[in-house]
Amino acid sequence: MAEALAATQGGALTDEHVQIRESVRDFADREVVPIANELDNKAAEIPTHIVKKMSELGYFGLIFSPDYGGSGLDHLSMAIVAEELSKAWLSVGSVMTRMIITASLIQSNGTDEQKKKWLPGICTGEILCAAAFTEPDAGSDSAGIKCRATKKGDRYLLNGEKTWCTWANKAHILCTTVVTNPDAPKHKRISILLVPKKPGDEFDPPALAGQPIPTIGYKGMNSYSLQFEDYPAPVENLLGGVEGKGFYQLMSTYEVARIQTAARAVGVAQAAFDAALRYSKERTQFGKTISEFQVIRHKLAEMATKIEAGRQLTYHAARMKDTGKRCDLEAGMAKAFCAEMAEHVSAEAMQIFGGYGYSREFPAQRFWRDARVFRIFEGTSEIQYEVIAKRLLED
Ligand SMILES: Cc1cc2nc3c(=O)[nH]c(=O)nc-3n(C[C@H](O)[C@H](O)[C@H](O)COP(=O)(O)OP(=O)(O)OC[C@H]3O[C@@H](n4cnc5c(N)ncnc54)[C@H](O)[C@@H]3O)c2cc1C
Repeated sequence: MAEALAATQGGALTDEHVQIRESVRDFADREVVPIANELDNKAAEIPTHIVKKMSELGYFGLIFSPDYGGSGLDHLSMAIVAEELSKAWLSVGSVMTRMIITASLIQSNGTDEQKKKWLPGICTGEILCAAAFTEPDAGSDSAGIKCRATKKGDRYLLNGEKTWCTWANKAHILCTTVVTNPDAPKHKRISILLVPKKPGDEFDPPALAGQPIPTIGYKGMNSYSLQFEDYPAPVENLLGGVEGKGFYQLMSTYEVARIQTAARAVGVAQAAFDAALRYSKERTQFGKTISEFQVIRHKLAEMATKIEAGRQLTYHAARMKDTGKRCDLEAGMAKAFCAEMAEHVSAEAMQIFGGYGYSREFPAQRFWRDARVFRIFEGTSEIQYEVIAKRLLED
């Protein structure tokens, strides 16, 4: 069965895509799987050597132009890498998300100087990034932010708050939405600033204070509440060099971020399924392995079917993105479906483990805790369905 499944993972992939999957799987199986459960249970962050290895393997620059130090690969390759890393540990599969969002914003919207200054370092992992878009009173309504950037000479001074800024401690730049034009209409008030900071858990209070948010999962990366008080960012770090474009620039990255997130959800679901499949063949009750009970067999069949449906939706959205066509509908469908699919599959996997599923000694609980976040971040499921409905109705 495992072989039959492996054959379906992705359908008609090119040899290059198959090789990418094998090489990422090799790295993840050797370096990440053996440590994931123990570190996650201790709420320990991803070890630095794993981040370094990922940067050496080129995972942060996958889809960016070779002119700027990237590998120039397609979005399907990105999805495969995200899926395989997340299968090992969601936190590890999520490191690249921050670099992908920031570098996509710069590659699509930055000035030539900004592309030359930032992209090579982001692609090689010398410049680590975090995304600071969400605020205590502005999540889904990303244009409703209040964090103010006031121009003073050759700097902007930031005042306000951000929340849920994942990996803010490790980052060299916070890719930050700010209000530069408070009197303009809602969506034209906003700009994106690349805000430099020193990496480290201490931050720089009171100019920049940060506190980790306790979470139920996603333990290998901390998400932070941040407070800015006259915190400086050079004027030259205004994305695209023109104020008031930030909301539209941000929207331009939604497709790629949602494809990458859908792929992460497929990876977590696949890990939960693989663990449950193995366990169902080992665990004996009433003199039989539990995989011999029809109800368990059908659970496994349904889980595998839903994972494959999510994978195909994700790869389809990635292929659409590679044609250069608009794919917010496909990316939204993939993200919404895979988020719900991962939550369902990981809960079913836990059920197959019975009481052991509830124990920290087995990874089933980790997959379940991690899978729950997919319906919330990178646009909630409710927002995805709004995006999908809007497209369906306007078409
Ligand atoms: C673990 C984690 C990591 C994160 N990392 C980052 C990060 O690195 N950077 C960052 O900027 N953000 C990050 N986020 C924030 C995340 O993107 C937001 O939580 C998300 O966008 C939802 O915003 P909110 O929490 O304010 O919820 P709200 O927007 O307040 O939504 C609350 C509820 O109302 C629903 N709702 C809201 N508006 C509508 C509507 N128009 N129609 C129907 N229903 C609606 C939502 O779907 C949800 O169910 C992270 C969040 C988590 C949990």
